[in-house]
Amino acid sequence: MPVCSKCGQSAIVRLSYNATDYCEGCFCELFESRVRQANKDFGMFRLNQRTAVGVSGGKDSAAMLYVLSKKIVPGVHGAVLLPLLIDEGIQGYRNLAAEKAQQLCGELGLELTIRRYSEKFLLMDDVMKRRDAKQAEDAQFKGKRSCSYCGVFRKSMLNQAALDLQADALAIGHNADDVAQTFLMNFMHHDASAGARLAPSQQTALDAPTPRKAGFVPRIKPLLYNLEKECALYCEIKGLPYYRGNCPYADESFRGDVKNSLNELEAKQPGVKFNLVRSYLDLHAQLERLPSSSKTEERVLGKLRTCSRCGQNSSQALCQACQLVAELS
Ligand code: SF4
Ligand code: ZN
Repeated sequence: MPVCSKCGQSAIVRLSYNATDYCEGCFCELFESRVRQANKDFGMFRLNQRTAVGVSGGKDSAAMLYVLSKKIVPGVHGAVLLPLLIDEGIQGYRNLAAEKAQQLCGELGLELTIRRYSEKFLLMDDVMKRRDAKQAEDAQFKGKRSCSYCGVFRKSMLNQAALDLQADALAIGHNADDVAQTFLMNFMHHDASAGARLAPSQQTALDAPTPRKAGFVPRIKPLLYNLEKECALYCEIKGLPYYRGNCPYADESFRGDVKNSLNELEAKQPGVKFNLVRSYLDLHAQLERLPSSSKTEERVLGKLRTCSRCGQNSSQALCQACQLVAELS
């Protein structure tokens, strides 16, 4: 029977990338210390900060909401947590996951705000039907993969809902797997500039006003240093309710292919995921030091106007989400 490398009690897991066995308590301490480290590195929480917390009913956001609600991260003590769920309209999936999110929020004494794609865009089930119908009747029409629609709609709705909640920051449950996948995907799509925006917002002084720029709520990623399987284990140990099913449209996603490849690589060479996250953060830090990076951001923000259909910030007359809806009409 393996014993915990930290305290000598019965171990429940071995993390191969650091060749260490952990008991329940020491694993949870490791998990939580990484959230504290992410906060320290990126200054995510401030006194009295209104923090919208994106929840999906899945394991990552359940672990994140629980850790934040326990106020074991410095700076979260005075923060107001505002759980927020975006319902894409995927019957048999998100409605079931939302029940778990509702249950968790009830257990934590937090009020869950739910916003739906149908309020501004289209239900994802309708998006898929319309895309397939258009492709069948028009050979010229090139529809996108499911997640390309869904991701754009979600980002827009999360930002708008966070603005409506007067949130100073939006916590997203992206874990180390997500960051490593996105980093690779951006390079594979020849979209390195999107990679540069992947890092959590950096806040500099804890008592300074949160920089909410031109209608964008800064996104923070408290789970940046925890792997996906570690989020699941943390939920199991803490007995948190979460939905275990997968989205029926996930098979179409390129992310799924990248995820499988990274899992295979991690099994062969433990530590590659964290190395990708570290490489990304190193690269990002170097880019930030370039004098042109802040000017680029100013140029982008300077060009912003308002989408004529939905009112969100956009660099064009119609924002990306509304362009997608128009293409499907
Ligand atoms: Fe949306 Fe893709 Fe996630 Fe399904 S897997 S909820 S389609 S982003
Ligand atoms: Zn729009």
